[in-house]
Amino acid sequence: MTRAQELAQNFRELQSSIAAACGVAGRPTEDVTLVAVSKTFPAEDVRILYDLGHRDFGESRVQELLPKLEDLPDDIRWHFIGKLQSNKLKKIASNVELLHSLETESQLHAANLNREPFSALIEINIAEEPQKSGILPSALDSFQKSVIECSTVRLKGLMTIGPANRNAEEMRLHFRRLRQLSEVHGTGKVLSMGMSGDYAIAIQEGSTHIRVGTALFGGR
Ligand SMILES: *Cc1c(COP(=O)(O)O)cnc(C)c1O
Repeated sequence: MTRAQELAQNFRELQSSIAAACGVAGRPTEDVTLVAVSKTFPAEDVRILYDLGHRDFGESRVQELLPKLEDLPDDIRWHFIGKLQSNKLKKIASNVELLHSLETESQLHAANLNREPFSALIEINIAEEPQKSGILPSALDSFQKSVIECSTVRLKGLMTIGPANRNAEEMRLHFRRLRQLSEVHGTGKVLSMGMSGDYAIAIQEGSTHIRVGTALFGGR
């Protein structure tokens, strides 16, 4: 099998599995955006999915995103999902559809200085894991106020990276808690949650953006 055939098959299987999860949840498939996480994979792989009609791709490092921006068509919607140092914000702010990882005051400061408006999600450390990036649920109020004061950021919702190696029912509770946080705080309608191992559960719990790498491109 060629790489193009392999990716086409993975893509079809993933699409039908997303449709099935939407069916179980009683949600229309258009509610859920598949962000194809292409980090560590070459631009040619992105091009193959692009030629199949896919447009939303996720990257987690600035130095990997920039060359892909150069090499690939302009109508790709890039999602930045990794840790973003504030001094690199200006390199990508005007090129991304959505920044999923807003989490520091210093990013907001850089956004103010840059003056280029962009859309973003606040990243939440939903399981309150030590050393994990993201805002703790208890700190959301105060961070959200800072975000709202920052005129260049359009707040669209929340994102979380669930804890690794937990069972399905625990993941469900974390995803449910993220949705409740977004409702209570009125952070916007986007919920970026769910990856290769748990996107079906995330969809049942209201995810609008699933970020899938391994199930599409293979192991990294
Ligand atoms: C790598 C990554 C993903 C994709 O993870 P898979 O398990 O390969 O689907 C999703 N979200 C973030 C933030 C990532 O860094």
